[in-house]
Amino acid sequence: MSENEQNSNVIELPISITVRELAEVLGTSPIDVIKNLMANGVMANINQEIDYDTAAIVSAEMGFEPTPQQVAEEKPEQMGEIPLWRQKLAEEDEEQLAPRPPVVSMLGHVDHGKTSLLDVIRHTSVASGEAGGITQHIGAYQAVHNGNPITFLDTPGHAAFTSMRARGAQGADIVVLVVAADDGVMPQTKEAISHARAAQVPMVVALNKIDKDNAVPEQVKQQLAEEGLVPDDWDGDTLVIPLSATENEGIEDLLEAILLIAGDMDIMANPSGEVFGTVIESEITKRQGVMATLLVQNGTLEVSDTVLANLAYGRIKAMFDFHGESIKEAGPSVPVSVMGLNEAPTAGDLFEIVKDEKEARRLVEERELDAERKASEASQALTLEELFARAQIGDVENLSLVIKADVQGSLEPIVASLEDMKSEGEQEIGVEIIHTGIGRITENDIMLASTSDAIVIGFNVGPDKVAKRMAEREGISIRRYKIIYHLINDVQKALQGMLDPVEKKILIGRAEVLAVFPSGKFDQVAGCRVQTGEIRRNALIRVVRDAKVIYEGEISSLKRHQEDVNEVRKGFECGIGLRGFSEFEEGDKLESYVIEEVTEF
Ligand code: GDP
Repeated sequence: MSENEQNSNVIELPISITVRELAEVLGTSPIDVIKNLMANGVMANINQEIDYDTAAIVSAEMGFEPTPQQVAEEKPEQMGEIPLWRQKLAEEDEEQLAPRPPVVSMLGHVDHGKTSLLDVIRHTSVASGEAGGITQHIGAYQAVHNGNPITFLDTPGHAAFTSMRARGAQGADIVVLVVAADDGVMPQTKEAISHARAAQVPMVVALNKIDKDNAVPEQVKQQLAEEGLVPDDWDGDTLVIPLSATENEGIEDLLEAILLIAGDMDIMANPSGEVFGTVIESEITKRQGVMATLLVQNGTLEVSDTVLANLAYGRIKAMFDFHGESIKEAGPSVPVSVMGLNEAPTAGDLFEIVKDEKEARRLVEERELDAERKASEASQALTLEELFARAQIGDVENLSLVIKADVQGSLEPIVASLEDMKSEGEQEIGVEIIHTGIGRITENDIMLASTSDAIVIGFNVGPDKVAKRMAEREGISIRRYKIIYHLINDVQKALQGMLDPVEKKILIGRAEVLAVFPSGKFDQVAGCRVQTGEIRRNALIRVVRDAKVIYEGEISSLKRHQEDVNEVRKGFECGIGLRGFSEFEEGDKLESYVIEEVTEF
C-alpha cells in the first residue's frame, strides 16, 4: 500500500463524539454506525455521545484508521494524590506564612488500637475547656504537649473505608501508623503505608499493645523494615514508639515524636490569607440543623462568613470549638463545628469562603451543571435499557442490581418484590441482587456494580461525592427512586424491554452575554463567554433571562475570532447568532442543550 493510500483512511476523532457526527466523519449513514455499534454490544441513539475507544472500534471496522484528535485545551484538573488544600497553600505568599500546629491522623489495621489511642490522648493531653474539660466529639480535637498544640483527626469510625483512610492521610501533616505489637503488619497496615506515601505525609509508628504477653515488638519491627520503615534504633529513619493505650504508657513519647517530626517540617499557613480547609465530618441534628466540622487550613474563619464546600453552602450562624464552646474565629489547624450550612457537606471536601450566599448559589449552580454534563457524557453507561438489549442477545442472563436504601424498612419490601421477578417470553431474564445496604451509595457499591455489570439503585439515597465521580468514570448508571412502585415498575419494564421512551433535555453548556453587536441590517449577535460546558453549533439553544426561558431554538452562527466553529468550550469567548431571535441583553444566559431519548430500542 502506498503511503498516500494509507493516509487517505486516517481520521481524527475527538475524545467524545455523537453518533451523528461520527457518521458524518465516516461519510456514512448514522444507521450504519448504529448497526455497527449494536454488533459490538453498544446501544446508542443518533444524538448519543460515544467515547473515543468506541468510535475508534467502529471506525476501524468500517475500514478507517482512527487517531486521537489533538486539541489544545486547558489542562485537566490535577487529580493527583496531592490534595487541593496543599496545592492552594503552595500559592500563599511566603512572607506571610506562620507556623501552625501539626495535623495528625491515625491509620492502621482494624483493632490495632486507633480509637483507644485517640481516647487516651484526648483524656490525658487535652487542655480542659471552661465547661469542665468535657470534649465534644466533632471528629477532631487539639491536644497540647509541653505547651505545643497538636490537632488530631478523630474519625476512626469511618476508617474502615479505604477512601476515608486515603483522605485521612491527605488531610494530615503527619500520620501515626498504629501497629499492634501482638499482631504485626497486616493488610490494612500496608494500605495505610501506601496512602501516607501517596499523600507524601511522613509516618511515625505507634507500636501499640506492648503490655500484652504475646507482644513481639522486635518481630514487628522486622516486618516494618521489610515495608521500608526501618526503625530508628536500627539506624533507620522511622520513629517507632512502643506504647500501650490501655495502660497509658508511652503516650508522651508519641506526642514528643510527633512534635519532633513536625519540627523538621515547614508546617505553615497564612492566618490572614485566603480562608480554606477541609470538611472533617457533618451531621444533621434535629435541634441545630446541619452541623459541620471544618478544619481550617489557611486564613481565619469567622462567624458570619459564607462557607462553600462543593454543593453545600451557608452563612455561619454559630461556631464552636471541640469543647463545645462558642467561638468567633478560628485560625489554621483549628477544628471547629459550624452551624448554618444548607446541607451536610461531604467529608474530605475542600471548603472555601465566598462573598455571600448569592455568589455561593451561583457557583453551586455552575458545579451542578458541570456534573450533569459529565454524567450525560458517560456514554457507555450501563442503563437498564442496555442491559435488557444485551440480555436479548444472550449476553447477560440477569439484570444485576446493587440496591441502597435509607432505612431497612424500605429495603425489605423492595428486595422481596424484585427477587422473584422474571421476564416473560423465550429468553428468560431474572433479577440478581448483588448487594443491598442502608445508607448513601458509596465507592464500594460502584466498585461492586462495575465488576458485575450491575446498575445501582438508590431508594431515597444518592451517591456520595467519591461514588458519583467513580460512577461517571466507570460509566455505572445510578437510578434514584422515591416511590417503591416506580422502582419495581421500571425494573419490570426493563425486564420486558418496554421502558417508556423518555425525552430528556441534557444541558451541555451555558454562556453569558457580555455585549450585543449589530449584524447586518436588522440582526444582532451576542458576544458571549462560555461559563461552563460548551456551546455546540448543532445543539439546541435557549435564552434565559431572570431565570425564565424567553426563547428556544437553533443557532444560526457560532464564531470565534470571525471564524465559524462547531463548538466553543468553557472559558472562551464567542459570537452567537440565533435563528429568529436577536433581542439579546447583557447578562442573558444562553444554554446549549441536546434532546435525548432515554429509550430508543
Ligand atoms: P481500632 O479498631 O484500631 O480503633 O482499635 P480499638 O482502639 O478499638 O482497639 C481494639 C481492641 O484492642 C480493644 O478491645 C481495645 O481495648 C484493645 N486495645 C487497644 N489498645 C490496647 C493496648 O495498648 N493494650 C491492650 N492490651 N489492648 C488494647
